[in-house]
Amino acid sequence: MIRGMNENASIAPMLAEGGVEAFLARDLAVVWHPCTQMREHRGELPLLPVRRGRGAWLEGLDGTRWLDAISSWWTNLFGHAHPHIAAAIGAQAAELEHVIYAGFAHEPGLRLAERLVALAPREPGRAPLRRVFYGENGSAAIEIALKMSFHAHQNAGQAQRTRFVALENGYHGETLGALAMSDIPLYRRIYAPLLLEPRLVPSPDAFHAAPGESPEACARRAAAALAALFEREGETLAALVLEPLVQCAGGMRMHHPAYLAEARTLCDRFGVHLIADEIAVGFGRTGTLFACEQAGIAPDFLCLSKGLSGGALPLSAVLTTEAVFEAFWSEDRSRAFLHSHSFAGNPVACAAANATLDLFESTHAIEANRALSARLGHAAARFADRPLVGDLRQTGMILAFELVEDRRSRRPHADHPRRRALAAYRAGLAAGAVLRPLGNVLYWMPPYCIGEEEIAVLERATAAALEAYARCA
Ligand SMILES: *Cc1c(COP(=O)(O)O)cnc(C)c1O
Repeated sequence: MIRGMNENASIAPMLAEGGVEAFLARDLAVVWHPCTQMREHRGELPLLPVRRGRGAWLEGLDGTRWLDAISSWWTNLFGHAHPHIAAAIGAQAAELEHVIYAGFAHEPGLRLAERLVALAPREPGRAPLRRVFYGENGSAAIEIALKMSFHAHQNAGQAQRTRFVALENGYHGETLGALAMSDIPLYRRIYAPLLLEPRLVPSPDAFHAAPGESPEACARRAAAALAALFEREGETLAALVLEPLVQCAGGMRMHHPAYLAEARTLCDRFGVHLIADEIAVGFGRTGTLFACEQAGIAPDFLCLSKGLSGGALPLSAVLTTEAVFEAFWSEDRSRAFLHSHSFAGNPVACAAANATLDLFESTHAIEANRALSARLGHAAARFADRPLVGDLRQTGMILAFELVEDRRSRRPHADHPRRRALAAYRAGLAAGAVLRPLGNVLYWMPPYCIGEEEIAVLERATAAALEAYARCA
């Protein structure tokens, strides 16, 4: 039991009026939750009322605790309600909570921009990412990068560059432009008549390597397909958008960095921008601060969100080069980037992001995560031999188990895929951890503050989830 459970004045009366059940009934009567078939909340999918978070743990209204093994949709880095981030948010909110960011500047926004350009991936011989444009969420960052790329080409007299290239199995968000670049049929298919149509190229996903083919060879094969497209249509392409190293929503599918190096070379050769969507993989998830570093490349646009604020507040940033910036520099207002979001550059969110960058420094998170990711790999390995586990993969702090019916073909179960995933989710919860499978992929993407106690819970919950997934019929 966590101390202070009944101190929360706003929740105590709610519990007195009929307890958790009444709370849930009220919620389900009025709230429409994201990415949810709401009908499932009438049965198989529990709705969990949360009162607080501490470190890697979430605490329910009734005092139940769950390990947040998926970092609340991959946003949380250093634990929930982190005192340093909370203090920065409180102090900034009491000083300047928001101001229009057109025509006004503020210290948290400036400081964050300076720190981000100093930390951004660099590549010898390439002009660095030196400009920061703020948005409010990941999808907005993608919209910004797509519009900026297109418009920069227009301003440079390249009017024919009107198309984008995206990877099979990629994911870039839910707004129409970002969804158009995504290749997850469940989210995209129904909206297809509304969407831009990117050129889709094969994913370098090592899971699809041919028998005996190395991940690197698989990546080079995908790069050859990209080269063929560029040879055919390079003149008409504005940008290639991809998730470096891990396609997260697509099932934590991982690829060799050789693909990124080849894509960078091809983009340069054909005058196509490279948009690196590091919204999920940025800020240390893959073992380096940014995934692009592992390929030794820098993109033309770097999209950041999720962990940017430590997971505390909505914020995104698009970093780009001085060359792109200069394409908009003009006496003609129509050549400017007239894109905006009301809360762009919100000072409280920027303060949270600055506090998060402080924590990277004070905790030496990237170095510390080297040992932690090795420890997690060791913990995951005990499940590798199970008949159900067709593939166990890891990139830094992201680990994934591909759950299959048949290990040889690595085919997922044909029967009851959704019921299996829900059963695994519920079993994980009952064993104390939030493990929210992506279809047949169970994964770990925990906050960086986990220790041995948390890893033990993670192992127990994973064992329970695998058991439930296999048993469900
Ligand atoms: C989550 C995500 C997005 C979208 O971010 P939102 O803040 O949810 O709009 C875009 N790209 C990737 C790779 C993501 O994981």
